[in-house]
Amino acid sequence: MTTQATQPQYRLEQTRKVGTFPGPKSTELAVRRAKVVAAGVSSSVPVYVADADGGIIEDVDGNRFIDLGSGIAVTSVGASDPAVVAAVQEQVQHFTHTCFMISPYEGYVAVAEKLAELTPGDHEKRSVLFNSGAEAVENAVKVARLATGRSAVVAFDHAYHGRTNLTMGLTAKANPYKSSPAGSFGPFAPEIYRVPMSYPFREENPQITGAQAAQRAITMIEKQIGGENVAAIIIEPIQGEGGFIVPAEGFLPALAAWAKEKGIVFIADEVQAGFCRTGAWFASEHEGIVPDLITMAKGIAGGMPLSAVTGRAELLDAVHGGGLGGTYGGNPVACAAALGAIRTMEELDLNARAKAIEVQVKERLNKLAEESGIIGEVRGRGAMLALEFVKSGTAATTKEPNPEATKAIAANCLENGVVILTCGTYGNVIRLLPPLVISDELLADALDVLEAAIRAAS
Ligand SMILES: *Cc1c(COP(=O)(O)O)cnc(C)c1O
Repeated sequence: MTTQATQPQYRLEQTRKVGTFPGPKSTELAVRRAKVVAAGVSSSVPVYVADADGGIIEDVDGNRFIDLGSGIAVTSVGASDPAVVAAVQEQVQHFTHTCFMISPYEGYVAVAEKLAELTPGDHEKRSVLFNSGAEAVENAVKVARLATGRSAVVAFDHAYHGRTNLTMGLTAKANPYKSSPAGSFGPFAPEIYRVPMSYPFREENPQITGAQAAQRAITMIEKQIGGENVAAIIIEPIQGEGGFIVPAEGFLPALAAWAKEKGIVFIADEVQAGFCRTGAWFASEHEGIVPDLITMAKGIAGGMPLSAVTGRAELLDAVHGGGLGGTYGGNPVACAAALGAIRTMEELDLNARAKAIEVQVKERLNKLAEESGIIGEVRGRGAMLALEFVKSGTAATTKEPNPEATKAIAANCLENGVVILTCGTYGNVIRLLPPLVISDELLADALDVLEAAIRAAS
């Protein structure tokens, strides 16, 4: 690294402040909401946002919360990054939409150029843009099936790939994504197969290596599906909703190598882990894997809806003209935002910033884990970090999940001005996804609140 990273600029005061929670204006909005907004959309936080910037979310009653969620890993550059705001303002003054499938524009091409440059591998690449992560995943599967002439798709335990029909099918967790005791969103798309993930903390045999865990999955694919029938293997290099699960070293490379040997398209779903979140442009880089297709969304455009599939030219160009697209895919305002966000990531060196956040957070939390009886594991990479909670006293043997403590800790944090998200198949994981532009001081304050909440629940 030759240049010193510049400092982020903040518009809002970067301090935590909680008065009445929830305040009167939020309470009033909750009443209006209940009359018109579908009950199926739930919010983890009972306050309504008036403004957000850097590491702060300000509500309509003037409370200021420290943001450790980034709107689910989206606003890595902050919720109102000056470069994103300026790029959007400039673009909306000219045109907001023409539809790239009718009259194309430069922003789309420029984003595709940037994705070719930033994604792993120096092969010839092509990109196609969409609006959401689920849409990117759907289209990656479409491409893989058409290009290979095969239909089976392999996904993993604890996977999360979205909420549309195909992506619900790929997602592992039933409640709330696919069904609840009250009913199911199915039937789901056919030809989806699930195999075991490498989940070091919960392996029956804690000695199992990444390569062995990969072989366990490969054997299952060979015996139950047949490698020659598989169009694609889709995997999150670090699983998101499933619990910020980092597979054992060697797992991803072994799977990718086997897929290559069998002519199976290896899709890395980097929707949550991508764009500097883990201290690299893409989480695939940590083990040097080069996916055939990469799906991206969330952090890509500083909060504007944009997603992408980037991958090998011969795969994407196998699809006939008109076979891929969508009315809004690669919207010009969203493309402008992406170019602004990527520029900020480069100028502020947010990969380095994510690594610094990892050091700061892990130092605190590892120490706490030694004292607290309920932290089973501290894990993650960069600013994609998690705590898995277990029942006190049983940690070593049963690792019994502790969703009750997890919920209580998240609620306690919120009441004290820190927005924190939970996740995990067992609902027992707290995930930390701070905006990468958060200051050390603000992050330290948030960790004080988290630490107090964990001590209170221990
Ligand atoms: C969030 C997420 C998706 C779905 O993205 P949406 O934009 O919500 O459709 C897909 N894959 C992963 C890994 C995600 O984290």
